[in-house]
Amino acid sequence: MCMSLYGGLKNQQRRVSVDGGKYESGALEQSIQGSLCRCTGYRPIVDVCKSFGSSVDVEDLGLNIFWKDRKDGRMELLPCYDPGDDPKFPEFLKQEIIQRQSAIDSTGTSAMIEHEKWICATSSGHAFGLLKHFQTRSKTSKEVKIVVGNTSAGVYRDWDHSVFIDISRIPELHVVEARSDGIEFGAAVSIAKLIDFLDENFKKAGSGIAKHLRKVASPHVRNAGSVGGNLIMAQKFGFDSDIATVFLGFGATLKLLVSPDKQVIQSMEEFLEGGGGVDDYPSSLLTMIFLPLRSHEAAEFKTYRASPRL
Ligand SMILES: Cc1cc2nc3c(=O)[nH]c(=O)nc-3n(C[C@H](O)[C@H](O)[C@H](O)COP(=O)(O)OP(=O)(O)OC[C@H]3O[C@@H](n4cnc5c(N)ncnc54)[C@H](O)[C@@H]3O)c2cc1C
Repeated sequence: MCMSLYGGLKNQQRRVSVDGGKYESGALEQSIQGSLCRCTGYRPIVDVCKSFGSSVDVEDLGLNIFWKDRKDGRMELLPCYDPGDDPKFPEFLKQEIIQRQSAIDSTGTSAMIEHEKWICATSSGHAFGLLKHFQTRSKTSKEVKIVVGNTSAGVYRDWDHSVFIDISRIPELHVVEARSDGIEFGAAVSIAKLIDFLDENFKKAGSGIAKHLRKVASPHVRNAGSVGGNLIMAQKFGFDSDIATVFLGFGATLKLLVSPDKQVIQSMEEFLEGGGGVDDYPSSLLTMIFLPLRSHEAAEFKTYRASPRL
């Protein structure tokens, strides 16, 4: 939670340094949206972060955190955020990152981490080749896993894999393109990036989707998690995905690499019906997703999210 709040503060700092303006407490609060924690530390931590925002309601800040008596509650008494006071990123962690990066580069994009093999594919064709190569050498289907953000491990705890094929660095899977008939984007595009792109380029039809996507998980999962990964979870594990549901309604189509030189296009219905099941080897690579936004420009598209009460 502290990391998310700090990330929210840094994002605001970047925005303020480019556009001017002030820190907004509402935006800072949004950075922990999705966090269910309400333990004793919650209120003071959130209050401290909100206190950096110019729009903070002083009355709203907790008593005893800033002042003992409400009469003393005045904006000018709140300390300002000074980036110069930020803790420094630890040197040993910087070195660790550099070492891991060089281990990946010097061995031709592959790295051994204990008994696991983590391989960074450089193109869709490379990823597909790796998938087939390791599948033929594996004893069980659980050994090989394609990953982008690997956030699904937090949902399914499927930790039995020994070979990870990381497709998050494949440039063509990060392309986002506004076409005359809609938007086409790579399967590794993060949920957060898609929201930003829809907001900027498709104000009408796209805003309904973007609004719903903001309800998915929390900012850090949306930053790391890919749209493609979410759709595969819906297909393979029957995950109750918001994204698959919304895309189904919107008539999305998907491109899948089914052999090194063969790509197929499927509707969302075909894609979801074609899920092999949890224990099946992944047999294809989801590469691109297309949303026909222009045809919805004249229509009103609304989505609702029903969540069980906790
Ligand atoms: C705490 C939490 C809350 C969440 N809340 C919501 C929610 O409210 N609504 C919602 O809809 N979702 C929710 N999710 C799901 C979240 O959106 C997904 O976990 C995320 O989008 C998956 O993306 P990833 O890149 O991390 O996928 P990964 O974990 O890397 O991969 C997911 C699966 O897809 C496979 N895969 C990934 N990319 C490809 C590809 N291109 N081709 C073939 N196979 C591929 C992987 O092998 C794996 O089986 C939540 C997740 C978490 C952890």
